[in-house]
Amino acid sequence: MSEKRTSILLVEDEENLHEALKLNLELEGYDVTSAFDGAAALHAVHGEYFDLIILDVMLPEMDGISVAETVRISNNEVPILILSARNTSADRVLGLKKGADDYLTKPFNLEELLLRVHKLIDKNKKLQDKSSVGNSYTFGENIIDFKAQEATSKGGQKIQLSKKETMLLKLLIENKNEVVPREKILQAVWGYNVYPTTRTIDNFILNFRKYFEEDSRNPRYFHSVRGVGYKYSE
Ligand code: CA
Repeated sequence: MSEKRTSILLVEDEENLHEALKLNLELEGYDVTSAFDGAAALHAVHGEYFDLIILDVMLPEMDGISVAETVRISNNEVPILILSARNTSADRVLGLKKGADDYLTKPFNLEELLLRVHKLIDKNKKLQDKSSVGNSYTFGENIIDFKAQEATSKGGQKIQLSKKETMLLKLLIENKNEVVPREKILQAVWGYNVYPTTRTIDNFILNFRKYFEEDSRNPRYFHSVRGVGYKYSE
């Protein structure tokens, strides 16, 4: 996961500003995906994982605040930096309430924007690292060895795990008791441009239940949350 370049979704309808921001972010080494309206932004967020969203408030049709709200409703915790021409504290509060992590008022200083972008991404990565599990993990009668890509389950039975199975297990366990959104799984396990169907992930979960659950029809550890994602719970 770590060799991947940091990716930013830039949502801004003013073309000159959009181009200038994109150029500067790319010069900083970020991968930038462009969206010029709210619908395109949500479409991108649904299909890909981003490390940050830079989101203008005044967009045609659906405004940035609604976009932020919709992203959060789908249980996506991607950091969001709101850009706005307005500077009333009411707007700022509304933006933050609806799920934005930071707020910058236009016209802004480019250096300041880049600094905030860097800070938000860094903070989020640290949070993700903190939850990182070690090389092995024990739950119930099961032991998973992530490095060896194998597991020992009930009765000492050895299971050889595929690379993707190991990655998905690690991701779910690192986010114990939380729903991991489908987009995040796609990014982390399948990478950027190959999107398996929901059924593919479901089949992985079915296998995990067979390997690790006492009663695979009545799972205790591995759950799918319809339309949202998957969860490992203890
Ligand atoms: Ca605008």
